[in-house]
Amino acid sequence: MSLRQKITDIRHTLAFRLTLWYAGIFMLSACVAFFFFYLLIASVMRQQTDQALSSEVRTFSSILSTQGPEAVRRQAFIQAQAAGEKKIFFRLLYITGQVFSSSNMSYWRDIGINRAAVNRLLDGRVPIFDTINIPDRKHKIRVLYAVIGPGMILQLGQSMENHTRIIEVFRKVFITTMVILFALAVVVGWFMARRALVGVETVTRTARRISEGSLEKRVPVKNRADEIDQLALTFNQMLDRIENLVTGIKEMSDNIAHDLKSPITRIRGIAEVSLTTGSSLQEYKSMAAGTIEECDRLLDMINTMLIISRTEAGVNQLDCQKLDIANLVRDACDIFQSPAEDKGLTLVCNGPENISINGDLRLIQRMVANLLDNAIKYTPANGKIDVSVAGGTDPSVRIVVQDNGRGIAGKDLEHIFERFYRCDPSRSQAGTGLGLSFARAVARAHNGDIAVISTPDEGSIFTVTLPKNPPSLAG
Ligand code: ADP
Repeated sequence: MSLRQKITDIRHTLAFRLTLWYAGIFMLSACVAFFFFYLLIASVMRQQTDQALSSEVRTFSSILSTQGPEAVRRQAFIQAQAAGEKKIFFRLLYITGQVFSSSNMSYWRDIGINRAAVNRLLDGRVPIFDTINIPDRKHKIRVLYAVIGPGMILQLGQSMENHTRIIEVFRKVFITTMVILFALAVVVGWFMARRALVGVETVTRTARRISEGSLEKRVPVKNRADEIDQLALTFNQMLDRIENLVTGIKEMSDNIAHDLKSPITRIRGIAEVSLTTGSSLQEYKSMAAGTIEECDRLLDMINTMLIISRTEAGVNQLDCQKLDIANLVRDACDIFQSPAEDKGLTLVCNGPENISINGDLRLIQRMVANLLDNAIKYTPANGKIDVSVAGGTDPSVRIVVQDNGRGIAGKDLEHIFERFYRCDPSRSQAGTGLGLSFARAVARAHNGDIAVISTPDEGSIFTVTLPKNPPSLAG
């Protein structure tokens, strides 16, 4: 990568922009602080000059009152010579503005008498200060007009040389400090921006590694509960979900390959036998009927698998509506009453008249049917099945299906909700191993869950909990 390209890349980084902002704000604050400091120094210095001039005026005023105008003139000469004739000057004026005496004015000849100031002085009797800027002169001059006695005005001027010198020093200090501060602001800003963005870079690096194929990688969380940790946590949660989905898809495709093989083989077998041995129309008809039956089973299995996967992935939008769950369970028991009786089982349904919940009618109907179907399938003759609905006043309802059938072994309990899992003794029974995983997917899609308690040879209790108004579905 060329140097130019590298510089362009850096210019586009967030760290670079943050550094610029930081340095900019830092410099602006420093400028504002310097500006106020400058105003303060300038005002203090002017006050000092004005105080010095005012004190001179008081001295002259007392000399005039005690020793007369001649003494004032002498004092003015002495004062000007002592301070330096280029630093200070005096003019004594009548109230008409006419000069009757002055110190050596050869250096100050450009400074005249400000008539307006004299008039203002005579109007208000308070000393008037004036700042004069003479072109080509480096330093400004502060001039004071004051009445020092009856009919006598003093014009007193002082070069603001010290003032200018201090301001110059101040300017140099300002420029040097600003250069140092700018360099410091850039270094500190860059360091801080890099530190702040290091977490983002970690997330980016992880994302890059994941895009190269390592889905199991996670962004380290520092437990500082800052924004970067929140980002890392959210990112990791997203990865967990993606990983689950990918694993689910992988499992499903493995299962499809494995579990759909047998029905397809059966269908092929029926067709082959009919082709090789079949001779009558009746035989062909029964082959067609067998094929349709197997195909229906196959389609049902594929559909169930699709519903489970979509419901688990949250892709299936639930068709939620207000439904009476007590009534739904009663209806299901009515439908399963006759298969239960056929097998010599007692099916009892208990529960209140009605309990309303918000849910997907078709999915919940099918979930309840799966549980009843299992209870009938895995309970031997003369057994009893109790179905109940409870929780009329609670935020959730519970549907309990209890049987005194053959129960489930401890080692199987943790697997029965997995897709295609069938306990060994059940393999002789018809079934796909999808009924309970369907039930769990539906319960969880409604923000509920399903639990089982079972003892081999004593029976099983399946409990489905469904919130009446699932938070994520409310509204
Ligand atoms: P299927 O019933 O089609 O085999 P399910 O997913 O509904 O699939 O059930 C998984 C397994 O859990 C069943 O194969 C069975 O071994 C066990 N099982 C489910 N319900 C019961 C029950 N009420 N009593 C005993 N075993 C059960």
